[in-house]
Amino acid sequence: MKHFKHSVRKQLLLWYSALQLVILLLFSLLILIVLKTALNRHLQTQLELDFSQIEQIIQKEPDEIDEIDEFSPLRLFIISKNGEIESKSRAWKASKLVIPPKDQFGIFSQTSPDNKQYTIKSGIVQKHYILTVAADNGPIQTVQKFFIIILLILLPAAMGLTAASGYFLSGRLLRPVSNMAKSAAHISFANLSQRLYVHNPHDEFGILATVFNNMLDRLQNAILRLRQFTADASHELRTPLTVIKSVGEVTLQEDPSPEVYRDRIGSMLEETERLSRLVDNLLTLTRADSSNFNFNPQKTLLNEFLFKIIQDYRILAEEKRQTITIDFDPEKPITGVVDEDLLKRAVVNLLDNAIKYTPNKGKITIKLVSTDKLNIIKIKDTGPGIPQEHFEKIFERFYRVSKARSRELGGTGLGLAIAKWAVEMNNGSVFAANDTYGGTIFCIELYKN
Ligand code: ADP
Repeated sequence: MKHFKHSVRKQLLLWYSALQLVILLLFSLLILIVLKTALNRHLQTQLELDFSQIEQIIQKEPDEIDEIDEFSPLRLFIISKNGEIESKSRAWKASKLVIPPKDQFGIFSQTSPDNKQYTIKSGIVQKHYILTVAADNGPIQTVQKFFIIILLILLPAAMGLTAASGYFLSGRLLRPVSNMAKSAAHISFANLSQRLYVHNPHDEFGILATVFNNMLDRLQNAILRLRQFTADASHELRTPLTVIKSVGEVTLQEDPSPEVYRDRIGSMLEETERLSRLVDNLLTLTRADSSNFNFNPQKTLLNEFLFKIIQDYRILAEEKRQTITIDFDPEKPITGVVDEDLLKRAVVNLLDNAIKYTPNKGKITIKLVSTDKLNIIKIKDTGPGIPQEHFEKIFERFYRVSKARSRELGGTGLGLAIAKWAVEMNNGSVFAANDTYGGTIFCIELYKN
């Protein structure tokens, strides 16, 4: 953890320093170029000025040429006429500059024997004179050197200062990450309700911590649901097992007549039957949770599909002398894209409940309607109905309005949960409502696309 923290900090620091160095060097170079250009321009302007002043003197008062040197002893110039030096300033003499060839005109530079740089302008004035004026590059070179020295001192100092403050700042900025990592390291299955502290919910680390906390919420909920499911399932499994065990024990102790034996074995088989139904349903839901099933949607004629299921269930209804009414034309094609196995599970569970909870001689009506966007299957019964407050919960696992009634009728409390999952997998929804004339209506709505 520590290593990670340092490595991010180091990487930030390295990148930051490298970028800063490049930027500072580029800026310094730019300033140096601008400075050099400006100084050279200034020198040349000075040179031009000197040149034109001396030219004017030559033009207006050629006799006073020698006096120029008296008034401005620092000027470097030579005036020659017809190859003869007319005037050579003291400053020129002192500079030991070589007199440029007489046909070299314009602006050029020259290094004196004592290694000093000069900028020279030479040109013809008043037809007969060659005027050569020089300017010492020394002062501008000094300014440049001074600037470079300042840069050499300031650059490392600036680098060091910003690197130190960058290191400090990155440490401060990354502190929430290391705090988050420390807190997250302590969260385990045992204390899943613990959450990361969110310093500032609007910055990136705050958003990360919030996302992490939301993920923990979801995990915690899933684990709580799983715990509840395991506890409920164990409880449900225990009931039939206890019945089987106690019926077996009592029977063995009593040594009853063969009829009673048969009766007891019958009830033990009934419980075994319930157990196996329960295990089947549990397996279905486990597969549903892990998405471990083969989902195979295909174009289906829903009228034929529904009609076939209803025919299979007629015998069961007849046992209770119930009538099943088909409130749609089985010949009129209504198509939908569904996984037939899954949808069959849902329809069968609803139909099974309708038969189970509707008293003898009751009536069950099945409707199939197609609208623009939906295919709707309605299963209506004349049973006791479901109190309004239970509508939301009946689709939860192991939820029953009356546990005793459900058990008596062989229910596992998982039928509607499986139906809901199967319908949702088929891009639909299922809900219950009470019929105004008594009984319940279960409605499956399947979206067409
Ligand atoms: P069970 O195995 O108990 O039937 P289900 O998940 O299929 O479990 O149904 C949950 C509960 O919803 C049932 O216990 C019952 O109380 C209620 N229920 C479901 N279908 C009907 C119905 N057609 N009429 C009345 N109550 C029903």
